[in-house]
Amino acid sequence: MSAGVLIENVSKIFFHRGEEIHALREVNIAIDPGEFVCIAGPSGCGKSTLLNLVAGLERPDEGRILVGGEEATGPSPERTVVFQEGAIFPWMTVERNVEYGLRMRGDLSRAERRERAEDALERLGLAGMSDRFPHELSGGQRQRVAIARALVMEPQVLLCDEPFSSLDAITRRRLSEDMSRLWEATRMTVLWVEHNLYLPALLADRVMILASHPGRVLDEVLVHLDRPRSPSDAAVLRIGDWLTAWLEALAEVEQGGRVVLPHPPGGAEVRPASHHATLH
Ligand code: ADP
Ligand code: MG
Repeated sequence: MSAGVLIENVSKIFFHRGEEIHALREVNIAIDPGEFVCIAGPSGCGKSTLLNLVAGLERPDEGRILVGGEEATGPSPERTVVFQEGAIFPWMTVERNVEYGLRMRGDLSRAERRERAEDALERLGLAGMSDRFPHELSGGQRQRVAIARALVMEPQVLLCDEPFSSLDAITRRRLSEDMSRLWEATRMTVLWVEHNLYLPALLADRVMILASHPGRVLDEVLVHLDRPRSPSDAAVLRIGDWLTAWLEALAEVEQGGRVVLPHPPGGAEVRPASHHATLH
C-alpha cells in the first residue's frame, strides 16, 4: 500500500581521510501517498545518500525518516530500490527473479506468486519472457525485470536511483513512457533520483533541486502538466530544457558566478524550499 514519506531535518556526514563530508544538511521533504517526487542535482550533491537513507541502507546522523508513519531504521521490502544496474540474479529465470522477494516473504502460494509475477511482467511489456535468463535479455529488458521485481512487492514507496541512465536514448525513452503509464495506472508513491532532467518533466509531480557541499534542498519545482504526458509533448520538452538550463545556471552561482535564472515555462512553478516538512 502506498504511504507518505517524511524526511525531517535529516543530516548525514561521511568521513573521508579524516575530513568531514556533509553529504546532506538539514533536509526536509514531505511526500504525500501516491505522489511522484524526483530528486535532482549535480553529481555528488547527496541524491543517492538521501535515497539510501529512505531505503534504510544508511542511518541519518541527525533527524529522522518516517514511511507510513514508522521510522525507517533498516532495509525493508516495503522500500525496495531500483538501481542503475538492476540487481537481478543471473542464474534465475525472469519469473524466478520477479517472484524472489515474495518467496522470501513467504506469505503467498506458488500459484499466487506466479500470478503476481506474470501480472507485473505484462505491465512492463515482458509477457512471454518468464522462462528466459537475464543473459538472454537486452539492457532495457533487464531494467524492466528489476522494476517488475520491485512492483510485485507492492511497496509503500518505490525508490529509484537513476534506473535508466545506463540505457541508450531510444530504450530510455520507451521505458520512461511505459513508466509514466504504469504510474498513472497504479499511483504508487515514488521517490526517483535523476540527473537527466527530461525525465522529471515527464514523470514527476514535484522536483526537489539539491545543491552540494553541503547537500541541501535549494528549491522545489511543481510540474502542473496534465497526464497522460508524452516525452515528445512540447510542454514536457520545454520544462526539461528549462530544468537543465536552470541547474547549469545554479552550478555557475555555486562557483561564484552571477546569472539570471530563466523564468519557468508554462506548467512549471518554483517554490522556495520549505524549511519544515509537514504532512498533509
Ligand atoms: P550523488 O548521488 O548526488 O551523486 P552521493 O549521495 O553518492 O551523491 O554522494 C554525496 C557525497 O557524499 C559525495 O561527496 C560522496 O563522495 C560522499 N559519499 C557518499 N557515500 C560515501 C561513503 N560511503 N563514504 C564517504 N563518502 C561518501
Ligand atoms: Mg548517485
